[in-house]
Amino acid sequence: MPVSADAPRPIVDARGLWKRYGALTVLHGVDLSVAERELVFIIGPSGSGKSTLLRCLNRLEEPDDGSIHVDGIELLSPKTDINAARRRIGMVFQSFNLYPHMTARQNVMLALRKVLGKSRDEADSIAAAALHRVGLGERMDHHPAQLSGGQQQRVAIARAIALEPRVMLFDEPTSALDPELVGGVLNVMRELRESGMTMVVVSHEMAFARAAADRVVFMADGQKLEEGPPAQIFGDPQHERTRAFIRQID
Ligand code: ADP
Ligand code: MG
Repeated sequence: MPVSADAPRPIVDARGLWKRYGALTVLHGVDLSVAERELVFIIGPSGSGKSTLLRCLNRLEEPDDGSIHVDGIELLSPKTDINAARRRIGMVFQSFNLYPHMTARQNVMLALRKVLGKSRDEADSIAAAALHRVGLGERMDHHPAQLSGGQQQRVAIARAIALEPRVMLFDEPTSALDPELVGGVLNVMRELRESGMTMVVVSHEMAFARAAADRVVFMADGQKLEEGPPAQIFGDPQHERTRAFIRQID
């Protein structure tokens, strides 16, 4: 197939993903392609398969059928070293999953040492830079209990970006936060996007989607029902299910 200069290879290219839990089919042949530097925002009712889709994209869940290329690597091939492939994929969840007995800096360093085999000194300076980047330069040596939820989530983001992933997946990163802490996390995500990071974000922060997303995907019942630029999905949705969803969140 000819490769044209204005159609770069997508960073994420998932095709025909099926996922079943027993009799329940959660993904019905979903396709998702994400271009380099693109921010794709996924919305949809609870239970529509958004988390399952994200978890398939780094093989935390095993799809029953389909293919997933990340940065050109076929994740589902038995020949693929899944741990090596996962290094290219950063993931941030609703819960921060920091080690409570370690400082912010130690949490980030641990990932660098374990996943990338960095030396202590190297891990220390990369961790410090990543924590500065998320606005926690002054709090690097605090333990999670001494940080707000928003700050803890920013440590989790620093831990992911320190590994220099090719794509970042966010699954409801602000859903567990008190409202006044949401903005700080979204600002970090905005900064990351401006720096050119490729991102897939599942979130209910519709104002952020309108402002920062290149494309919004609406999912319902394990299917992608509609996708397009935020102005179209929020301003002129085509599918009745999308219209109902947008009405209810506005
Ligand atoms: P969303 O993130 O959009 O709320 P999920 O991907 O979490 O949706 O879930 C989609 C559907 O799959 C839901 O019906 C959920 O109950 C079901 N599901 C998710 N994980 C499992 C699991 N491990 N076992 C059985 N059912 C699951
Ligand atoms: Mg979910």
